[in-house]
Amino acid sequence: MIHIQLINALSDNYIACIINSTNKYCVIVDPGEADPAFNFLNEHQLHLSAILITHHHWDHINGIEKLLEKFDIPVYGPSKEPVNGMTHHLNDNDKITLEAIGITLKIMHIPGHTLGHIAYYNDQFIFTGDTLFSAGCGRIFEGTVDQMYHSLSKIASLDEKTLVYCGHEYTASNLKFAQLVEPENSDIQKRLEEVSTLRQQNLPTVPSTLALEKLTNPFLRCTFPSVKKSAEKYSRKSLATPQEVLAVLRHWKNHVSSQL
Ligand code: ZN
Ligand code: FE
Repeated sequence: MIHIQLINALSDNYIACIINSTNKYCVIVDPGEADPAFNFLNEHQLHLSAILITHHHWDHINGIEKLLEKFDIPVYGPSKEPVNGMTHHLNDNDKITLEAIGITLKIMHIPGHTLGHIAYYNDQFIFTGDTLFSAGCGRIFEGTVDQMYHSLSKIASLDEKTLVYCGHEYTASNLKFAQLVEPENSDIQKRLEEVSTLRQQNLPTVPSTLALEKLTNPFLRCTFPSVKKSAEKYSRKSLATPQEVLAVLRHWKNHVSSQL
């Protein structure tokens, strides 16, 4: 029996822990910090069997070194990025079998936030790192808008019931931005209320589902007339392609982020 739990790290990062509750082995994704992971493993009496990394940013990899001092385990990561301690260099369409917990995950190359960024997924869940967030997407630091658009489209093509595990708790501010873009969207309003309740209790708003993301995440809705119209109004020009809409949304979000 496999289940996933989230470990809080740094100020708003999540380290996902994939647990085989029968044999008590687990795998963690993006340990930005080691101590919260150690505490979680101790508390739940789990054996760590591997580390998965989505991209090279420090808030996703900083815990690796300390974890490797204690555990002699493989570290999977994106082939094109520098990750300390990486033993398995992964590319698009690779498959990895995590024998200790008994699952196989597929690799999807999703450049945009960083150039080598990868996601890990199966029929039930996906770990999207800083590319697709709940109700938002990552900043485009290394890639291009076209790459980010293509990466988000690839993720969105998976089954709608797929659970989306992202790397940060940004959902509430993302939804406030989504509301600026689509003030009339009642799914966003409803989700914002649910998310506020969860956050008041200090509970994670992650995972969401791809179905919910498609209803409420403006960055997955660039082809919708309401989103296009809003982006055109903000940029004061007509936008011919969904990629142009995405570019405006990203720019707009960067501009208002600190106020949300
Ligand atoms: Zn990042
Ligand atoms: Fe991050």
